[in-house]
Amino acid sequence: MEKELKIIIENCPQNHKCPAIKTCPVGALSQEGFSAPKIDYIKCIKCGKCSNFCPKGALVLIDYSKNNK
Ligand code: SF4
Repeated sequence: MEKELKIIIENCPQNHKCPAIKTCPVGALSQEGFSAPKIDYIKCIKCGKCSNFCPKGALVLIDYSKNNK
């Protein structure tokens, strides 16, 4: 497990429809109402598209192979 996608819930204003959901090529993100998006870890291929897109930095792809201190 070199990479892990995380939701930083305190970065998400949770007051809008999450636009990052549309960036996911495999439909791994979902949202209930205006809550922070949820990740389907079975579907997620850790491509980083959502984390690159999210302007609030609420979706973060952590690469452990680079930060293994
Ligand atoms: S890292 Fe890629 S596959 Fe995973 S939820 Fe984000 S956009 Fe979808």
